[in-house]
Order: sequence, then structure tokens, then C-alpha cells
Amino acid sequence: MDPTELSLRQSIIDTCLRMNREGINQGTSGNVSARWGDGMLISPSGIPYEELEPGDIVFLDAGGEHPAGQRPSSEWRLHLGILQARPRIGAVVHTHSVHATALSMRGMEIPAAHYMVAAGGGPNIRCARYATFGTAELSEHAIEALEGRSACLLANHGVVATGTDLRRALWLAGEIEVLARQYILSLMLGGPDLLSEAEIERVREGFRDYGLR
Ligand code: 13P
Ligand code: ZN
Repeated sequence: MDPTELSLRQSIIDTCLRMNREGINQGTSGNVSARWGDGMLISPSGIPYEELEPGDIVFLDAGGEHPAGQRPSSEWRLHLGILQARPRIGAVVHTHSVHATALSMRGMEIPAAHYMVAAGGGPNIRCARYATFGTAELSEHAIEALEGRSACLLANHGVVATGTDLRRALWLAGEIEVLARQYILSLMLGGPDLLSEAEIERVREGFRDYGLR
């Protein structure tokens, strides 16, 4: 196998393991993909992450076709749809992190309660409308909620975080969970003071020369 492809497959496995180890996902929920050629590489469906080998990662072409005998994540339409709608995105991480999912259970977005919300690309992290897991409808709702953003919640389900690469997408998924926890706590204290859109724009400017190397 091409060494670059092999290393990307291993990075997908490492990202799956890290998302569980870092406490932002549990069990075989969640899934991870990265753009590859005209399609993507994605974690398989329902296999414990500790058991994954590079050969278990599934390649799907632009039409969603994959090698016989392999079972891609049930959320392949969500991942492929996002990668096709947003050419600058290179990786997608989907988690069921507890606090962000709790907000999604009430269809709530994360507002500009903390300046770090700007890491998602704007003054809020929207919550996509509910659709059954694995459906093209869920993919469409997520793409809608991701307009001008790099992350969103999925109603009654979880989180989608994107990035130019796997490292950035995983980092953002972790930040979304932290923001959700902070926001829920602030609601318990009577509700946050929200930052203005102008302030979030200033923070976004400040992020240009800050962050991941
Ligand atoms: P898979 O194991 O098929 O990736 O499904 C997990 C999930 O999060 C479905 O939304
Ligand atoms: Zn899910």
C-alpha cells in the first residue's frame, strides 16, 4: 500500500483512540474520516477502536462505493457529504461527547458565552435539525448548520467537528465539549453574559496567528 495512504489510515485509528481516551466519546460511537483522492478514508462501523488495523479503514470513492466485504461507518453519508460540500475541509470527527450531546438533546446551540466559540468560525455553534443516524437527511441538516462554521451539534445525537486535517478536527471536537460544559454550568448560575458579534470577529482576527503549529 502507498505509504502516505497507510500513514493516513493509521492516523484515523489514532484519532479514534484519542477521542475515547480524551473522554470526548465512548465505545464504538463516533467516527472519523479524512479526504483521500476523490473520496475519503473512514473508520469502519461498530468495530472497537482498540481492534482496528490500517486495513480495516474503508476507502469510499466520490460515489460512495467501497470494496466488497468492508463496512464503512454508518455515518459515511454525513462525512462524504461534508467533504464534498466544503472543499477546504480535510477531516471530519463525529463524537457523542456528553455535555455537547446534552445540549443537542434540547436542540440548543452554543452561543457566544465564551470567546473560544470563535474557534468554530463564528458567534455560535449551531445545532442541526434531527434526522435518523446514517441518513442523507442527517448529512443535509449538518451541512446547513455548518454554513460558515467548522463545527455543529446534531440534535439528539452528538457533535461534528471539521478541520483541514485530523489533528485540527479532533482538537475542535475537544473544544466544543469544553464549551458545552462551561455553557451548561453558566446556565445553572443564572445564564451567561454573551459576547457581541463584533467581539467574536476580533477574536477570530486574533486567532489568525495563534493556535496549532
Ligand atoms: P458507526 O459505528 O457505524 O461509525 O456508528 C456510530 C455513530 O456514531 C452513528 O451515529
Ligand atoms: Zn453518532
